[in-house]
Amino acid sequence: MSSSLVPGRSCGDCNVCCSYYHINDPMLRKPKDTLCPLWNGGCSIYAVRPRACSEFYCLWRRTPSLDDGWRPNRIGIIIHETDIAIPEHFVERVGLIFDVCGSTEVLRDARVVIAIAEQIDRGIPVFLGIIGDPQHDAARVLLNDRMKSAVAGRDLAALRRDLEAALAEARTQSRSRPLGVDS
Ligand code: SF4
Ligand code: SF4
Repeated sequence: MSSSLVPGRSCGDCNVCCSYYHINDPMLRKPKDTLCPLWNGGCSIYAVRPRACSEFYCLWRRTPSLDDGWRPNRIGIIIHETDIAIPEHFVERVGLIFDVCGSTEVLRDARVVIAIAEQIDRGIPVFLGIIGDPQHDAARVLLNDRMKSAVAGRDLAALRRDLEAALAEARTQSRSRPLGVDS
């Protein structure tokens, strides 16, 4: 994982993060799951875009070993770093969120399952994120503890089952949190 960007790699036709996330900035307020009105084949205010945008790059933009198949608009998942809500027992204080931005079938994709397992094996806090339906907030659940045994056993079927259970929990969590008028 690197904090710098992969040379020569650009977002291209991907605009997933400009659509997926809720932005609440003095310059721009937009709801989740709605393409930003300032996107026009690329960011139309790129040089002065809000901090929430200028500070965000998904892991595909930062990691040379993630090939083009990992571009979020291709694979259907946005991977990004977070230092929010990392439980105290983790030595690593920066974790990864795997935000599902396409079909949840991506959680059966062996590339994704193995990538999640590898990060858990390294002690990185790993979260599964879902956007939720239009009436409810997004949600994320920590994966490490629930997947520990399957990771140790290198058991792909068990890893997939654990991810299905995590997805169900994230959906329940999302449905318990109705969106407010400002969301
Ligand atoms: S999700 Fe990644 S590749 Fe896609 S627009 Fe955002 S930063 Fe670029
Ligand atoms: S301001 Fe630009 S970078 Fe930010 S969400 Fe809109 S189009 Fe994307």
